[in-house]
Amino acid sequence: MTVKVLLKSAKNKCAVPKPTLSYRGRFAPSPSGPLHAGSLLAALGSYLDAHAHRGTWLVRIEDIDPPREVAGASDLILSQLEAHGLLWDESVRRQSQQDRLYHRNLERLQQHGLVYACNCSRKDIKARAPFYTGHCRYRNLPWQGNALRFVNQHPVTSLLDRLHGQVTIEPDFAAEDFTLRRRDGLWAYQLAVVSDDRDQEITHIVRGSDLLTPSSWQMALWQSLTTIAGGPPAPKLVHLPLVVGDDGRKLSKQNHAPPLLAADAVDNLSLALTRLNLAPPADLYGAPVAEQLSWAIPAWRARNLQ
Ligand code: GLU
Ligand code: ZN
Repeated sequence: MTVKVLLKSAKNKCAVPKPTLSYRGRFAPSPSGPLHAGSLLAALGSYLDAHAHRGTWLVRIEDIDPPREVAGASDLILSQLEAHGLLWDESVRRQSQQDRLYHRNLERLQQHGLVYACNCSRKDIKARAPFYTGHCRYRNLPWQGNALRFVNQHPVTSLLDRLHGQVTIEPDFAAEDFTLRRRDGLWAYQLAVVSDDRDQEITHIVRGSDLLTPSSWQMALWQSLTTIAGGPPAPKLVHLPLVVGDDGRKLSKQNHAPPLLAADAVDNLSLALTRLNLAPPADLYGAPVAEQLSWAIPAWRARNLQ
C-alpha cells in the first residue's frame, strides 16, 4: 500500500506557535465497520495534534445511519482505539442521541429561509450535472417525504488547511445546496457533524482529504448558524493524506479494507506514524504503543502547524 497525498505540500512556517489552552479535537468514526489502516491515520493524526497542543481529544460515534450500521462495530472501534493506545478524554458521544440538537439547528435554519425540500432522485440529479444545481430551491415542495437541502448562499470556495495552506474547492461543488435531512427522515452527515462540532466546542478538526468538499459545506453551514445563533468560531482544519490500496483506491469499509487487529497494534501504529511522515527511530519501531505515542507527540509538535 502507498500513501497518496492529494493536496499541495505545506509552505514552511517558522513562527513560534501560540499555546492553545482550550484546544478540543475529535475523532468521529461511523460504525459501518471496524477501523482499518485509513481510519487509523485519521484517529492518530487528530490524537497527536490534540496532545501536541496539550488539548482534549474526544471520540464521537457517528451512528446516524442505521441501515449502514454494522452490529457491534462501535464497540469494536472503541476497543481498537484502546488497543492502539488512543484513549479519549471525555465520555463518548453518540449521534443517535442528539436528535434534539439537530432539530433545533434545522429549525433555526428554517426560520431564516435557509431550508427547502427536494424530491429529485439521484438519477435526476446526475442527468443534469455532476453536482446538485439547486433545482428545487423555489419549488416550495412539502417537507414530508422529501429530502431537505441547505440554501448555500455564501459558498466557501477556499479553505485554510494547517498542513497544506490555502486549498481551493471546485466552485460548483462548494456551492451545492447539500442535504440536511434525507428523504427517509434520517439526518444528513453535514447537519449532524456541524451541530456536534459546535455543541462540543471543537476547535480543531483533523481528518482525511476525502472530506475536503464536505469541509467547505460544513464551514458554510457553521457560518450560517453562527450568524443566526452565535456560537464558537469555525474550527481549524487539517486534511490528512489518504491511504490507498494496491488498486489505487482509497481504503474504505465499502471496498473491504482489512480491519485492524489488536494483536498487530504496535506494527499498525509504526506504519501509521510512517505514513504521517513521523517514522519512529529504529529502536522504537514496533515498541509498545504508549512508547511510540510518547515519542510521536513532541515529534508532531515540532512540525509547528499553525
Ligand atoms: N463520520 C464520518 C466518517 O467516518 C466523518 C468524520 C469526520 O467528520 O471527521 O467518515
Ligand atoms: Zn431537487
